[in-house]
Amino acid sequence: MCKRSPARPEIAIGDSVQTAPMAADGAYNRNSRIQAVGLTPAVALLEQAAAIVELPDTAQPIVIADFGCSGGRNSLTPIGAAIEGVRRRANQPINVVHTDLPDNDFSTLFNTIWTDPNSYMPQPAVFPMGIGRSFYHQLLAANSLTLGWSSWAVAWLSAPPAAIPDHVQVSYSADAATRSAYAQQAASDWIDFLAARSVEMRAGSRLVVVVPAADDDGSAGYRPMFDAAWASLTGLVHDGLLKEEEAVQMGMPHFSRSVAELAAPFGDGGQFAGLTIEHLETFNSTDEFWDEYQSTGNAETFGARWAGIFAAGAFPSLATALHSPPDSPRSVAILDRLEVEVAARLAAKPERMRIPVANIVLAKQGDDKNKRESGGFHERISVTQGLYKKS
Ligand code: SAH
Repeated sequence: MCKRSPARPEIAIGDSVQTAPMAADGAYNRNSRIQAVGLTPAVALLEQAAAIVELPDTAQPIVIADFGCSGGRNSLTPIGAAIEGVRRRANQPINVVHTDLPDNDFSTLFNTIWTDPNSYMPQPAVFPMGIGRSFYHQLLAANSLTLGWSSWAVAWLSAPPAAIPDHVQVSYSADAATRSAYAQQAASDWIDFLAARSVEMRAGSRLVVVVPAADDDGSAGYRPMFDAAWASLTGLVHDGLLKEEEAVQMGMPHFSRSVAELAAPFGDGGQFAGLTIEHLETFNSTDEFWDEYQSTGNAETFGARWAGIFAAGAFPSLATALHSPPDSPRSVAILDRLEVEVAARLAAKPERMRIPVANIVLAKQGDDKNKRESGGFHERISVTQGLYKKS
């Protein structure tokens, strides 16, 4: 079972779901293999960006930031690659800024950075630090960021716009008004994220974003997992463990945007707040748990692994809708039972998850030299079958 995040005294219990950090005490680090696999292709994009970003004057530190770091384990490979990439070009100190919500598991983050054998720390003149504030605000000094990274984070909404009456995942709700409210919230959050990053980014800098995307059918993917979660919540209500009004509030404040929604702020001119899209593609990532099940035939492990991913990612947020504090015996019992039920449902009927992901590279407009190196939006991007691809 995942350890639960402690209650936040300032959060009103049971009002509606709030976006909370991932499960604490290293639980996200232990239950984020799917995310680690999914972000891997974007590491090459980050390496390419590290090779071309404009570097500050040698008297200034290079700043690399990681937006939505959680416990940090999945940051080590990309941030390590970014450090190596810029280090090949410059010797000055590198500040690495890991950011997340204030209640994030920052102690796990720092222990991971200091002790994990895959940490980037052995590299010289690297100075990690953390910021606990929502990335929907400006977090860094204007024009200070050299290279940014954000994986699996910007799909979490600043706040849910409404309860989801009939599912945990809004894209599977039959309620069109709720789906539309979430799409609007996601659109305005994406604009806030981009606007804040744009202020922070130096001319000629890059930002690489990996984010859950809408699938070809417009859904968020992972259907067996989300259906199992909703069926389990309904079962808990039936058994009298959970109140119906709690179940209705337990929708995920999470939205998977389509390519068109991701590109929307950039409009026809291909620019937003001084940022241009250099690369935008969606793909379906590998369900490693399914592959493992194919070779072992162990359905229980398949169910338990996916339930662990869901618990580590979603439970702290879902718990904020309970009418009991998240770490109270009642809440812990409900969430433990939910995890067991989700695992059992998935084990009873294992199905490969679809894992739609978008990779995005954004460039902050720089001087003429940088423009020549990076090309413009129109030179390098063309729209093919609804996807933006480098031409
Ligand atoms: N980057 C890691 C962790 C992703 S988990 C990886 O690739 O595996 C998503 C993270 O985004 C969580 O730690 C969550 O707390 C954080 N997050 C969600 N909303 C946020 C916000 N508004 N500001 C900062 N971080 C946020």
